[in-house]
Amino acid sequence: MSSAVAMEATRRRQRLSSNGGASETTEEPAGQWGRAWEVDWFSLSAVILLLCTAPFLVFFFVMVCDQYQCSVSQPLVELYSGEATLRSIWDKAPSFTWTAAQIYTVWVSFQLVLYMCVPDVTHKFLPGYAGGVQDGARTPAGLINKYEINGLQSWLITHALWYANAQYFHWFSPTIIFDNWIPLLWCTNILGYAVSTFAFVKAYLFPTNAEDCKFTGNVFYNYMMGIEFNPRIGKWFDFKLFFNGRPGIVAWTLINLSYAAKQQELYGYVTNSMILVNVLQAIYVLDFFWNEAWYLKTIDICHDHFGWYLGWGDCVWLPFLYTLQGLYLVYNPVQLSTAHAAAVLLLGLVGYYVFRFTNHQKDLFRRTEGKCSVWGKKPTFIECAYRSGDGGLHHSKLMTSGFWGVARHLNYTGDLMGSLAYCAACGFGHIHPYFYIVYMTILLVHRCVRDEHRCSSKYGKDWKRYTDAVPYRLLPGIF
Ligand code: NDP
Repeated sequence: MSSAVAMEATRRRQRLSSNGGASETTEEPAGQWGRAWEVDWFSLSAVILLLCTAPFLVFFFVMVCDQYQCSVSQPLVELYSGEATLRSIWDKAPSFTWTAAQIYTVWVSFQLVLYMCVPDVTHKFLPGYAGGVQDGARTPAGLINKYEINGLQSWLITHALWYANAQYFHWFSPTIIFDNWIPLLWCTNILGYAVSTFAFVKAYLFPTNAEDCKFTGNVFYNYMMGIEFNPRIGKWFDFKLFFNGRPGIVAWTLINLSYAAKQQELYGYVTNSMILVNVLQAIYVLDFFWNEAWYLKTIDICHDHFGWYLGWGDCVWLPFLYTLQGLYLVYNPVQLSTAHAAAVLLLGLVGYYVFRFTNHQKDLFRRTEGKCSVWGKKPTFIECAYRSGDGGLHHSKLMTSGFWGVARHLNYTGDLMGSLAYCAACGFGHIHPYFYIVYMTILLVHRCVRDEHRCSSKYGKDWKRYTDAVPYRLLPGIF
């Protein structure tokens, strides 16, 4: 489809939203769904700042481990005193290598084969697991996409092969990821930029569904936040599901295992802090794959468009910055006291519990349309109405009991508790591993505000009724 068609679809949507409805009309006022059309100066500045700084930030956090044993201040002190220059730091960092390019090509190709060519069989023998072909949520244009959910299977096959290699085949060293870490950063950047640029151009030239495209009129914003909602190639290759849920997240646990193997190689033992980080993050990753069908209903898939934010973020930001704790522990092996380790484990598990059960309650509530039991009672809720892009009127419910009655985003609070636990597992020697909790706090607070803004335009006055009923966002009584 041409860009003219996409633009026409965009204009039609604008007319529909200003004229009222088309397919179903009602006197009842209802909010209009979808991402903002206007870009304010603050958002634009943030977008440009991120585009310019994020790749260097990732490089900085990885480089300081390689050259300064993860001290964040040391390179700044050396730069200030003239002992080092940006050039000398850059020159000391490992560069692109063809070995890393081969490793990464094999990795992404293997994940692609598992994603596209191996339909899920695990749902046939794992009770309670929803795999195979599943419906996504309704898009703003009113479409419901189908997805092949086989992430858990891909994760299991990949990890079984990793284990078989480490124990029996010895084709490569389990430290392979750590040993090629900075060269791999180059490769992930190449893919991240290539995917984001392709998605950007595709949106103009041949969008998958022109009705779901959003052009804001600002090229930087379009590139970063994406134009297409659910870009696909063919019937099944979905950019969001693949890049969000395969090369980066499947790798997360392998990266941690590679760090543990490096500790073993360097020091002859693996610290309890490394084990804690591996275990807590593996729970989070496995949770993601076990609930991949639920993930189709989260903001990434339901609301965000596919641009640099998701494309580059999934290829580069996630694998490099979500694994900083393990990297730090390779350079600074920390053996925690039993009390410290127990406190970290408790914080991580309680955080996981709040995160999982908050998400579970909403999922259950939405799946059963409120005909379920939450904390032993029938859930309470607010009835809402909204319009999709074709003008159709739809109804939805916002739960006001269970975790969703305590605060509007307790799932984020649980996530933050878990994130703090990963950082605290590294002790208090450096601030480097704490970057993650700072970043997650910014991400989730911003996400919360973004989501609420969107919900407010989607549900209008009904959203106001909801926020009156549940006044706090993350921490009851505070925020
Ligand atoms: P949510 O799962 O909280 O989804 C928000 C949506 O849920 C809203 O847009 C609205 O959608 C609906 N909703 C809001 N309030 C209610 C209610 N009271 N009752 C019923 N439905 C409601 O957000 P995310 O998709 O952002 O997050 C999912 C999980 O993923 C979270 O636990 C988060 O912590 C985690 N996450 C982790 C990240 C990471 O990098 N580690 C990044 C992002 C998220 P609707 O339009 O359907 O009404």
